[in-house]
Amino acid sequence: MKKERKYCNSCGRELKTKNGILLEDVLAVQKEWGYFSKKDTMLHTFRICEECYDEWIKGFRIPPKRVKKTEVI
Ligand SMILES: [Zn+2]
Repeated sequence: MKKERKYCNSCGRELKTKNGILLEDVLAVQKEWGYFSKKDTMLHTFRICEECYDEWIKGFRIPPKRVKKTEVI
């Protein structure tokens, strides 16, 4: 079985995996650009590790909305 290595697209660090399962939480983006973009029909995918995510959102003028998820029983 071929093991796919996974990397953070931003810093290039290899992400921790075990048997193809990610052992750290990352931002996984899959974006299918549509008609109103200049990239119509293009599918873009990338992963951003948590450290890079934190650095990335520091540059946001409006920070991401944060809601603490409460456990639902
Ligand atoms: Zn990174």
